[in-house]
Amino acid sequence: MIQLLYGQGYADDRVAKAMERVPRELFVPAEYAKSAYADTPLPIGLGQTISAPSIVAFMSKSLDVQDGMKILEIGSGSGYQAAILAELTGSSGAVYTVERIPELIELAKANVAKLGYANIKFIEGDGTKGHAQEAPYDRIIVTAASPSIPQPLLDQLKDRGKLIIPVGSRIFQDLELVVKTRFGEETSSLMPVVFVPLIGEFGYK
Ligand code: SAM
Repeated sequence: MIQLLYGQGYADDRVAKAMERVPRELFVPAEYAKSAYADTPLPIGLGQTISAPSIVAFMSKSLDVQDGMKILEIGSGSGYQAAILAELTGSSGAVYTVERIPELIELAKANVAKLGYANIKFIEGDGTKGHAQEAPYDRIIVTAASPSIPQPLLDQLKDRGKLIIPVGSRIFQDLELVVKTRFGEETSSLMPVVFVPLIGEFGYK
């Protein structure tokens, strides 16, 4: 499947290698293990999902993560995307991942522990406010759909940093990539996507 994602342009070399090192079946409920390598989102409980592999690959590639970067993820879910980011930034980097549902923080921690990453830190709370204590970040990834780009996330992004986020209605969104510059933000629309809503002060109520 990963070779297919590479061939279709969803993954580049680095992302394909990272995905090869993170078995997706460890991040899906046992009853879905047989579907772990189908290109589809899967339920992880509490009305939430692990995103389709092509979306994880495309978001990771578009974010352009390099060794040693400090990354903020909003929406830990199963912990799968965090593990891919941890591979991409390496042991000299760090991934801070925020999740609003306490049971999912526990799930993500347990899943990630199976692979022993020391560079992932979990934070329980409203990720629409970011995580100011560790700001600024080289990269920010939001894995839930927001009506607009939460201002705290833009504020917590480094100069020349990149932020990727699905923006739109609760049903359909555009995947947007923001590059922060000294003169403001440059935003491009990458592709139509469907994500569960980002619920919080600067997201959906
Ligand atoms: N990245 C996850 C993975 O690899 O499995 C998938 C994330 S799932 C599509 C979206 C997640 O965003 C859900 O776990 C949901 O609880 C979480 N979420 C929604 N609003 C949030 C908020 N304000 N702060 C943090 N997490 C939030």
